[in-house]
Amino acid sequence: MQGFAERADVEDVEGFVAAHAAPLPAETVELLACAGRVLAADVAAEVDVPGFARSAMDGYAVRGEDTFGASDYDPLALRLVGESMPGRPFSGVLKPGEAVRIMTGAPIPDGADAVVMAEVAREREGLVEVREAVPPRKHVGAVGEDLRRGEVVLRAGRRLRPQDAGLLASIGVARVRCVRRPRVRLVVTGDELLPAGARPEGARIVDSNSVTLRALVARDGGETLPFALLPDREDAIRAALAAPGADVVLVSGGSSVGREDFAPRLVAELGSLDFHGVAMRPSSPAGVGRIGDALVFLLPGNPVSCLCAYEFFAGPAVRALGGRPRAWPHRRVRLPLARKLTSAVGRVDYVRVAIEDGRVVPIATSGASILSSTVRAAGCVIVPRGLEGMPEGAEVEVLLYDEDAPEART
Ligand code: AMP
Ligand code: MG
Repeated sequence: MQGFAERADVEDVEGFVAAHAAPLPAETVELLACAGRVLAADVAAEVDVPGFARSAMDGYAVRGEDTFGASDYDPLALRLVGESMPGRPFSGVLKPGEAVRIMTGAPIPDGADAVVMAEVAREREGLVEVREAVPPRKHVGAVGEDLRRGEVVLRAGRRLRPQDAGLLASIGVARVRCVRRPRVRLVVTGDELLPAGARPEGARIVDSNSVTLRALVARDGGETLPFALLPDREDAIRAALAAPGADVVLVSGGSSVGREDFAPRLVAELGSLDFHGVAMRPSSPAGVGRIGDALVFLLPGNPVSCLCAYEFFAGPAVRALGGRPRAWPHRRVRLPLARKLTSAVGRVDYVRVAIEDGRVVPIATSGASILSSTVRAAGCVIVPRGLEGMPEGAEVEVLLYDEDAPEART
């Protein structure tokens, strides 16, 4: 066994990953599956929405000028000549002195230009008594008031919201060009590992990394390929690394410089091992390489290191490949430190922290094997390489672990 001769700077590794994670090509996605996906090309409306002038009220379609002078004291009578319902328009042309009963969303009949609300009108013996004057265009939704034909309604790069998908439906779109989701292979090794769902027993522990990683990949817009736990055996690990079909390979465990740590050498043999060993804590044995078109991340087996190395290097790659922003996907907050935070010069520290009474409290048990530290934490603070630590009261930036506000968490 031999330690790392020298460790790369976090920024250099980040820079390398950024340079090798351009968005994947587009694929066609069914409308019903497009929410949450990243749009690959601008979408322009090929129709006006609405495509016809429509009523914004239940009431009576009229010629506005026919109602001039109408009031509570002096109602004006128009002849009721028919009705216009949503999807069933009035077929004739409205002439002076006439009214057509109309519902919200129904087409305004030809000849009409305004709607009198039902509340200020009364039907009696084939007539409509109007008790309020309406100017032309009153309560009428114009053609294209929502969207105009030719208008770009959603831009490339947009992560589609539920209402975006609804809007695409409203302009008659059935399929959407989206950035392909990165396919991620998990290569999880360790003779001591039992599959997730099993109970830890004797000297065997349960593989928690793949569970965390799978959820992180899903969060970042990737798709995890089916996988099986691997023994610490060179041939098994080589086969998993060399298998085609992945855009990203995440190796958990066996990634350092120990006797059973085959992955670094195998990555170098099958492709290139561009970095191995990073000046950071935890996850200093992390590495990055390439096999074919796939980016390969060596994540240490210790669960905190595994999470940390994913968040620093693999997460940005998965997001970028899928067309999302590389940056931290959750909120950040700036708050003062409740007590001083120590760190070694020469490496980046990833410190799990709680937030108590608006102050940032570093979590004491910070060993890389203590997964519960990340569960108790609200987020993490990244202490730059050049700092020996930070004094109590110093304002720090916390990268929160959650989508929602920390106040909404227990
Ligand atoms: P390694 O990186 O393989 O040397 O593993 C370092 C530590 O992480 C050891 O205590 C392993 O038992 C543990 N470990 C390795 N893989 C996993 C995993 N998939 N889930 C949870 N712990 C793991
Ligand atoms: Mg191992």
